Amino acid sequence: MSGAPDEFALIAELFAPLSASYPGALGLTDDAALMDVPPGRQLVLTMDSMVAGVHFFADDPPDLIARKLIRVNLSDLSAKGAQPFAIMLSAAFPHATQADWLRRFAHGLAEDCRAFTVALIGGDTVSTPGPLTLTLTAFGHVGPGQALLRSGAVAGDQIWLSGTLGDAALGLIARQGGLPHLSMPHRDHLIARYLLPEPRVAIGPGLIGVAHAGMDVSDGLIQDVGHMARQSGLAAEIRVDLLPLSAPARAALAADNSRLATILGGGDDYELLFTAPPSQADVVHRLAARAGIALTVIGGMGAGQGVRVVDRDGNAVAVAHEGWRHFTDTGEEPWSG
Ligand SMILES: [Mg+2]
Repeated sequence: MSGAPDEFALIAELFAPLSASYPGALGLTDDAALMDVPPGRQLVLTMDSMVAGVHFFADDPPDLIARKLIRVNLSDLSAKGAQPFAIMLSAAFPHATQADWLRRFAHGLAEDCRAFTVALIGGDTVSTPGPLTLTLTAFGHVGPGQALLRSGAVAGDQIWLSGTLGDAALGLIARQGGLPHLSMPHRDHLIARYLLPEPRVAIGPGLIGVAHAGMDVSDGLIQDVGHMARQSGLAAEIRVDLLPLSAPARAALAADNSRLATILGGGDDYELLFTAPPSQADVVHRLAARAGIALTVIGGMGAGQGVRVVDRDGNAVAVAHEGWRHFTDTGEEPWSG
């Protein structure tokens, strides 16, 4: 794309229908969008950027790049308990971008705007000599003061995780030709989880009034649990035997137990991490059943600081690149976050 007027006209033509459900978007024909805050609600905003060669491969399918861009942002809104309703997109397309590529990208955007009932209400498109760079802002709403914060955890809370852990990080390794011992279906499952995360929009809003703290896992479980523990002024303990793993992840771990470090430390999970008092466990289980999404207790919050990974007997587990092992010095914190 050389910035020729017809290419920008094509983008305008492709994107305008995505704004149709939101009158304040003005059909993407004006300088700005108009947004009414839903009565009695508080806006929740988040923004994530993705750069080709950093967050995805330039030759990934364009529709999946678009859908992942939406989904990583909706994951953040869900983690706050917010109901998403709108997005804005800033896109810097490389000069050489073809019309067919743009059509497939717009098709992916449209598919997930429909799937998650969000409207594209504005943004900007430029042409760049650099890599494809995408920034998306997502808007959601929540009851005033009710958003789930990282800082809300209480000592004695259980730590819950949605879905399964580590699939995307393993999928990235498989995408790069690693994990050759895995079956094709297992490899395909992991790569699909890397390419297309599943934001837990059916869970997040249901956690309002149930969970004390919430965030999504995007930078690796241990690091993200560490953020929550630090913001809450508490320590977190993760039980390695309780981690929810998919069959492909179990197979990868069985073949090479150093993959536990990938599972605990790899990113791109986009699962919900939240804490709730044990008295709410039944409510959480009912929410999981209603949404058809697994929610699993993986540990607990207590006094202190840092993140401790333990086995079922409470012995600290060291997680490192060379694998994991038990050790007896329980004062050590291998992953203090
Ligand atoms: Mg996040």
